[in-house]
Amino acid sequence: MKRWLVVMAAWVVLRAGAQEPRVGLSIVQTGQAQAVEATLVPGGSVLRTRAANFSAFLVKHGSRYMLFDTGLGRGIDAQHRQDMPVWARLAFGYEQPIRPAVDQLHKAGIANLERVVLSHSHWDHASGIPDFSGVRVAVAQEEMQRITQARAGVGTAWPSQVGASSIAWEPLVFTDKPYRGYPRSLDFFGDGAVVLVPMPGHTPGSVGLFVTVDSGRRYFLIGDVAWTREALEQAAPKFWLASKLVDGDGPATQQSLEQVQQLMRTEPELQVIPAHDSVVQDVLGYFPRWVP
Ligand SMILES: [Zn+2]
Repeated sequence: MKRWLVVMAAWVVLRAGAQEPRVGLSIVQTGQAQAVEATLVPGGSVLRTRAANFSAFLVKHGSRYMLFDTGLGRGIDAQHRQDMPVWARLAFGYEQPIRPAVDQLHKAGIANLERVVLSHSHWDHASGIPDFSGVRVAVAQEEMQRITQARAGVGTAWPSQVGASSIAWEPLVFTDKPYRGYPRSLDFFGDGAVVLVPMPGHTPGSVGLFVTVDSGRRYFLIGDVAWTREALEQAAPKFWLASKLVDGDGPATQQSLEQVQQLMRTEPELQVIPAHDSVVQDVLGYFPRWVP
């Protein structure tokens, strides 16, 4: 009888440990690249390398799921061959193997993804869009213009990723309700747990995402406003050549970056996650684990 009780108690504890959060965030690491440290971290070494992540971010809200960015998708090799300019291939590559978000979610039994939201439309964030056929893809209105341009072969978004006429695009409609210093916001599920804010600069329609998880911890996904937490802490712009190549509007990117730095000072408990920062993401753990 006593042994039974012990087994039952252990089972209850295990079940509780495996319990799914009501509001949760999980980092889906789809791939990596090794970059010269100095290109990612202000004052970093030119001799050392550091891993840059290509991550998607799964948000769970009750029984609903949304994906913020897609990371690298099943089609990345063909997309890269088709749309990455030859001169840029050395600087903007990735390592094998790739672990597409769609495969990781399916393996975990998550088949009811409701929406993909893009922090912005660059190749390393939008690659998985073709993998989620039928799922609506939401971007800021300002980013939508770039996607339309991509279909015409103009601009920085890739036709191989965003060009299909079958993609169900949806504009993110921000309201004038301020949120944590941002003048405009979009309360995604209506209860304040998942809130999007415009962070223009890197691209005109770049957006950030605040998620407050069950533990009460608040996370801020900032896309590519900065590549590492160190850069945010020092309000340091990207390595000059990288900034020239990737930041559509340098001064506006810097303004968005300084706003994050300010927020980190007033809210030191806020967990800021740059899309490519492997050091920050390693500590939080990866899908299927939920962040603490
Ligand atoms: Zn990026």
